[in-house]
Amino acid sequence: MYEGAVQDLIDELGRLPGIGPKSAQRIAFHILDAEPEEVQKLATALVDAKSRVRFCEICGNVAQGVQCQICADPRRMDTVICVVEESKDVVAIERTREFRGKYHVLGGAIDPIGGIGPNNLRIRELLTRLQDDTVKEVILATDPNVEGEATATYIARLLSALPIRVTRLASGLPVGGDLEFADEVTLGRAFEGRTQVGV
Ligand SMILES: [Zn+2]
Repeated sequence: MYEGAVQDLIDELGRLPGIGPKSAQRIAFHILDAEPEEVQKLATALVDAKSRVRFCEICGNVAQGVQCQICADPRRMDTVICVVEESKDVVAIERTREFRGKYHVLGGAIDPIGGIGPNNLRIRELLTRLQDDTVKEVILATDPNVEGEATATYIARLLSALPIRVTRLASGLPVGGDLEFADEVTLGRAFEGRTQVGV
């Protein structure tokens, strides 16, 4: 629709999650109107984030160093691991201030239609973390939708042979939704009211 570089910018922005063609166009023209220094700051932030941010070698959360801040924090309990799909879910749960254990970020959920199976997720790494009997409880906090439920059920089965309490967040979370969109109070309550998974 537009010539060269403008259309390239709109196309690239439109590839981002949650940005439709109209938003892409609006952001593109906002950028074109902005001061060159502002645009440079944005470009630098993008490139820096991609080159500097790594994933924690223990839990898979985003990290600046080898380990994320939560894994590196000695005040966090080692006996409870909360399993989530993405780093953004860690942020959502941290906001509730209900949880003082550690996390495990799977990197998604089982989704046969999207071609994502258990081997594409960090499930093997989770099992490795459970080998030395330190962990007494695993909280399955995957999203309350079909893929999240399938993932929780799969992991619960895997763990049923281990001497570990496996719990799932209480219902009350918006079904079909994303954990990150639940408000703090609802998510906090779901944490408190978590129930043991029987397999
Ligand atoms: Zn970590």
